[in-house]
Amino acid sequence: MDVIAHFDEIFLKGNNKGMFVKKLADNIRRLFKGVTVKRVEGGLLIENFCEIDFDRLALVPGIAKLAPALVCQRDIDTIEKTILAMPTGDCINSFRILASRSDKDYEHTSEYLNIKLGTAVLKKRKLKVNLKNPDVIFHVDIGRSRAVVYQNLSDGAGGLPTGTAGRVICLLSGGIDSPVAAYEMMKRGAELILVHFQNQTQVTDDVSRKILDLSKILAHYQPEIKLIIVPFAQYQKQVVMKIPADSRMLISRRLMFKLSELIAKQERAIALITGDSLGQVASQTLENLTAIYASVGMLKLAPLIGANKSDIVRIARRIRTFDISIRPYEDCCSLFVAKHPKTKSQTFSLEKLEKLVDFTGLDKVSLISYYISMNSPL
Ligand code: ATP
Ligand code: MG
Repeated sequence: MDVIAHFDEIFLKGNNKGMFVKKLADNIRRLFKGVTVKRVEGGLLIENFCEIDFDRLALVPGIAKLAPALVCQRDIDTIEKTILAMPTGDCINSFRILASRSDKDYEHTSEYLNIKLGTAVLKKRKLKVNLKNPDVIFHVDIGRSRAVVYQNLSDGAGGLPTGTAGRVICLLSGGIDSPVAAYEMMKRGAELILVHFQNQTQVTDDVSRKILDLSKILAHYQPEIKLIIVPFAQYQKQVVMKIPADSRMLISRRLMFKLSELIAKQERAIALITGDSLGQVASQTLENLTAIYASVGMLKLAPLIGANKSDIVRIARRIRTFDISIRPYEDCCSLFVAKHPKTKSQTFSLEKLEKLVDFTGLDKVSLISYYISMNSPL
């Protein structure tokens, strides 16, 4: 089938618009093998598209609206036949035609097309015209060489194509929030590299299935994702041995930031992303976030900071990370959960505590990297 995809925010990009559209087309080609993507008035026409992938296409960052489309010759008789052959859903009583012409030299005006095609639909189908609030809109876009006809535009992800805003490191835990944070950043154009701190002393092939599966789902929306696994157990052990229980989580999160900043420099990434949401857990009070985030100088962003858990869960279900996130997993952080964690730490007191931990070799920690695409055999 063919699909028409419209964008919204890309239109605000002035002279850079072409670059954004090209990136979106490129992302679609890489995410859906075998399709052809063409620029048409108002959006992109995706040909040779497999119907079962439609819902996934709707989640690709940068696509604001989309619909299955029929492409036909642009003479009015063919357009009429195409519209009349289109199946409509049940309980449809009213319609309107919405014609637009990108080729202004076309022989008929949009108004004429609306009236002529509307009259044909009235004659053949038991439908009334309703211009304000129709049950179905038949769209007709006249291009230079063809017409595109479609109805029922559905909502897409919107935002900007992944890979137009620069590279960021996302700290991916096994939880619900951080994969959603990653997706939200993709929607703002960021190219994501995922970093997971794993509860093991050495880099082995025994990477958590859960983390690989989450990364594979995220690779449905960004064509290829690099996943970096950091063996974390040697530091974890020290934290457990030397740091009072009520501050362990905060010290370990500061440590994750420090390591992430080193990785960011190597990867030429310019921000660190977390799934923090204000007040959700003890480490996410304003005071504790201040003390954690003060550990490194580079830009840190928490796209879910103001989001309610129920909204995060809704997005997680939509992007299909939720069922993976709720699988049991011994995240390294779960070892740091204290009965009575501090809720109001101060940076200087954490810095003092941190001196008890031996950070030598932090910059030499050996990492393992995976390049994950949605069909990768991992
Ligand atoms: P999530 O649902 O994403 O696990 P959470 O609400 O459980 O988040 P925390 O466990 O306090 O919150 O973690 C806060 C953030 O710290 C996570 O969203 C993630 O960005 C980062 N983080 C925590 N643990 C890890 C880890 N093992 N590896 C990488 N990042 C982590
Ligand atoms: Mg977590």
